[in-house]
Amino acid sequence: MSTGQLFRAAIRARTSLGEEIRDLVAQGELVPDDLALQALLDALSAGDASSHGAILDGFPRTAVQSRLLDDALAQLDRRVDLAIVIEVPISEAIARLTSRRVCQAAGHTFHLSERPPRVSGHCDIDGSPLERRADDDPDVVRTRMDRQGAELAGVVAHYEDTGRVARVDGRGGADRVAASVVRVIDAR
Ligand SMILES: [Zn+2]
Repeated sequence: MSTGQLFRAAIRARTSLGEEIRDLVAQGELVPDDLALQALLDALSAGDASSHGAILDGFPRTAVQSRLLDDALAQLDRRVDLAIVIEVPISEAIARLTSRRVCQAAGHTFHLSERPPRVSGHCDIDGSPLERRADDDPDVVRTRMDRQGAELAGVVAHYEDTGRVARVDGRGGADRVAASVVRVIDAR
């Protein structure tokens, strides 16, 4: 369950929460913690997530959000069972992010090592030139990771204090990492 997906779904469904989020995004504002939390709680009380739970992606990103989530879930007699930390060396994380290429015509996405275009520098679908997005520039990525890394350390510390952290090796392909994630969930 990713907060980005939940926001887009709420906007499409034109719920009052969705309208509020749409206005903020249109003004270039971040979605505040209380709205993000509300979107998450709504989704957790619907469908499979209400009985089987869910894996959250993209929330919480700060220690403050972790505490808000704990408090809100406690009121529903639910809890975060496990915080899974997927560890990747910083150099590999930067290499992954800066290898993304996007076509100028329609935004089709490629990745130099994971999903390379058939013809170097050109989109497979429409042949338009591929470029690196401004936010995938190595310096921009490094700055963003420094800032987010400090915030995420606070999140990890929050769950470590209560014995709920499992660490997974994030090197190697997506299949291998996914299998490791499933293993730590099963072990719990
Ligand atoms: Zn394209």
